[in-house]
Amino acid sequence: MNRILLLGAPGSGKGTQAAKITQNYGIPAIATGDILRENVAAGTPLGLEAKRYMEAGELVPDDLIIALMNDRMHEDDAKNGYILDGFPRTIAQAEALDEFLAKSGGELDHVFYLTAPKDVLIARIAGRRVCPQCGAIYHMTRFPPKTPGVCDVCGAAIIQRKDDNAETAENRIDVYERQTKPLIEYYEKKGILMTFDSALGSEIVQAKIDEVMAA
Ligand code: ADP
Ligand code: ZN
Repeated sequence: MNRILLLGAPGSGKGTQAAKITQNYGIPAIATGDILRENVAAGTPLGLEAKRYMEAGELVPDDLIIALMNDRMHEDDAKNGYILDGFPRTIAQAEALDEFLAKSGGELDHVFYLTAPKDVLIARIAGRRVCPQCGAIYHMTRFPPKTPGVCDVCGAAIIQRKDDNAETAENRIDVYERQTKPLIEYYEKKGILMTFDSALGSEIVQAKIDEVMAA
C-alpha cells in the first residue's frame, strides 16, 4: 500500500512529483486545487463558494475541504493508495485526515516535504502555464511547450491560472507560512517526514523519491 502525502509551498513542485509517482506506480494523485478548479469551472455550489478564496490566494474553509476530501478518498480508485497533493493544509485538516485513516485502518506511508527559497517559488509560479484539458504543467522559460501556447501532450491551448501572478503568489506563500508550515512539525513528530531540496530540480528529487519508495 502506498499512501503518500506531498507537502510544500506553492511552486515547490508537488504537482510535478505527483504526476511522476502516478506514472511510475499507478496510484491516483488527489489534488485538492484541481478538484476545486473543476468545481469552479462547472459552477457547482462548492465552486461558487471556493472561487473568491482561491482568487485571493486564501485557503478555502476547512469544513468544505474536509467534506470534499472525505468523499474523494472513499472513491474506488483510492482503495489501493493515493498521493495527496495540497491536502491537508491546516492542522484541522490533518486531524480530519488522521480520523479518516484510523477509521479505514491505515496510515500514511510517506510524507515528502519539498523546499525551495521564496524567490524561486515566485519565479516558478509567475512563469507557470497549465493545460486545462490534460493537466500538463509548463514554464514559460524553463520548460516551454514545443509549439508556443500549445500543450505537447494533447494539443489544447495552455493557460495561466488566475492565481498564478506574482502578487497573489506572495499572499499564497504567506498563507502557507502561517497555516500550512505547522504541519511540518506535526508529521516530523510522527517520524514519517522526509525533506527534499526542490531547487535541485525535479529529476533529482524524483530519483530520491524513487529510492525511498523502492526501499
Ligand atoms: P498551490 O499549491 O500552487 O497553491 P493548489 O492548486 O494546491 O495550488 O491550490 C490552489 C488554491 O486552492 C489555494 O490557494 C486555495 O485557495 C485552494 N486550496 C487547495 N487546497 C486547499 C486546502 N487543502 N485547503 C484550503 N484551500 C485549498
Ligand atoms: Zn494537455
